[in-house]
Amino acid sequence: MYSSLATRTRLIFGRGTFHGLPGLLTKPYPLATFGDVPAPNRQPEIKQTKLFINNEFVDSVSKKTFPTINPATEEVISEVAEGDKADVDNAVAAAREAFRLGSPWRRMDAAQRGYLMNKLADLIERDAQYIASLEALDNGKPYKIAYLADVALIVQCYRYYAGWADKNHGKTIPVGGDYFTYTRHEPVGVCGQIIPWNFPLLMQAWKLGPALTMGNTVVMKTAEQTPLSALYIAELAREAGYPPGVLNIVNGYGPTAGAALAQHMDVDKLAFTGSTEIGQLVGKMASESNLKRLTLELGGKSPNIVFADADLDHAVETSHFGLFFNMGQCCCAGSRIFVEEKIYDEFVERSVERAQRRVVGDPFDAGSEQGPQIDDEQLGKILALIDSGKAEGAKLCTGGTRMGDKGYYISPTVFADVKDEMRIAKEEIFGPVMQIMKFKNIDELIERAHNTIYGLAASVLTKDLDKALYISNSLRAGTVWVNCFNVFNAAAPFGGYKMSGNGRELGEYGLDNYTEVKTVTIKISEKNS
Ligand code: NAD
Ligand code: MG
Repeated sequence: MYSSLATRTRLIFGRGTFHGLPGLLTKPYPLATFGDVPAPNRQPEIKQTKLFINNEFVDSVSKKTFPTINPATEEVISEVAEGDKADVDNAVAAAREAFRLGSPWRRMDAAQRGYLMNKLADLIERDAQYIASLEALDNGKPYKIAYLADVALIVQCYRYYAGWADKNHGKTIPVGGDYFTYTRHEPVGVCGQIIPWNFPLLMQAWKLGPALTMGNTVVMKTAEQTPLSALYIAELAREAGYPPGVLNIVNGYGPTAGAALAQHMDVDKLAFTGSTEIGQLVGKMASESNLKRLTLELGGKSPNIVFADADLDHAVETSHFGLFFNMGQCCCAGSRIFVEEKIYDEFVERSVERAQRRVVGDPFDAGSEQGPQIDDEQLGKILALIDSGKAEGAKLCTGGTRMGDKGYYISPTVFADVKDEMRIAKEEIFGPVMQIMKFKNIDELIERAHNTIYGLAASVLTKDLDKALYISNSLRAGTVWVNCFNVFNAAAPFGGYKMSGNGRELGEYGLDNYTEVKTVTIKISEKNS
């Protein structure tokens, strides 16, 4: 039933937690059980390019395709089937049929759903090198990080949710009178899920994990920039034994396939991760169509607060990692760095020096810390924001330009003397561009940290526990990291305050998005014979 324990734990981090990657290339990675990263497959075979509906890979109704690009070379990797409304209709119909009362999926024991998900995790471990290679090719992230972080974290996520399959049960409630009342946690039904390109595998796992373990069926719209890895996971789900129609994947663009899903009258729930702008749009579609349940994981402009008493080396490395990880393409990037006046100059100097040491290059080279941005649209957007920073008077300390003329590479960029009202201090850049600001005292700092529409994450670097607790209690952010950054674990919920979203993914809280609570009340007969 299971692979050997050794195989199963191979991809699990030492202490079960992703400790981030600062120092990945300078210090031994803190993994006890992971083992060496195998050499990448630089030209992974592209096995699946069609839509996945009812456990079959099919062309789109229109027969249209679109190219997916390798951002490191700008070359087309493959043509991929382009889904639209007609395909979303087919996928939703398949998902609805799989959810029919009495279907194999609805009759499946909860524990069996957990078994299937563990089996999927086993298969991902088996093919980890291939999957990480595919992710690096399609997304541009360094292969080594795709393997050590993305693939390892999705295995952790699927296994975590596998464990919940038969544990999210209801309650008995002491209502007054002769009644017996209990609750059932039932699946919501057909779930539409729209995911972005920055962590294709991980965003897929965060959504499929809780949806499938709770017995829902899914139609997922992947990002048009990165369709490939999700399709391979679908192939593995079929191999694991998920019944037809339980998981369906429609590749395609947002305004067509994505909007069709958000507006669909037979979709019970929509989960979206992406920009705040599109989050507002799909929220409107969800409510104006059939009031489908809605969860949103949106953008951020997260404050990273560095006190003068922090260990400076650690603070510089953590802040560097908090911003530059994944080419800066993280919703939770620590993109507003507030540094206490006393250490400001030294922090800037060391951060600049660290950014200049950052290794930018071919995602398949073992030494690469940073690959290309996802596409030329993002490249242009980031360069325009860099220009705005210069024009508004921030001090460009290093970087600020495109690197080379092939691949969407941007040099690690650091701005100092950033003022709160500048565009680079307010807008999500989603690129390798660091903003460093100065602060004098805590009260002023909290007000400035809150001066944003977002509330996704924050971090505090200090040795003073009182300060750390005061700041973390005060900040309106869904996640606060103290003396660390980007520490993700499937058990710890993640999501945003304010315009960074609605609801929480991961952990036990993540189950709420995928369950309806049913109250059953039974009259107890007074007759005793
Ligand atoms: P986006 O919000 O446009 O795309 C995210 C997903 O939504 C994709 O699958 C896309 O196809 C889909 N989508 C787009 N328009 C849609 C529509 N009208 N209806 C339904 N679905 C639609 O994000 P993007 O264009 O890829 O990136 C733009 C900016 O968004 C980035 O610069 C960044 O600031 C932000 N972003 C945030 C995250 C995050 O994790 N919070 C992820 C990606 C991008
Ligand atoms: Mg877009």
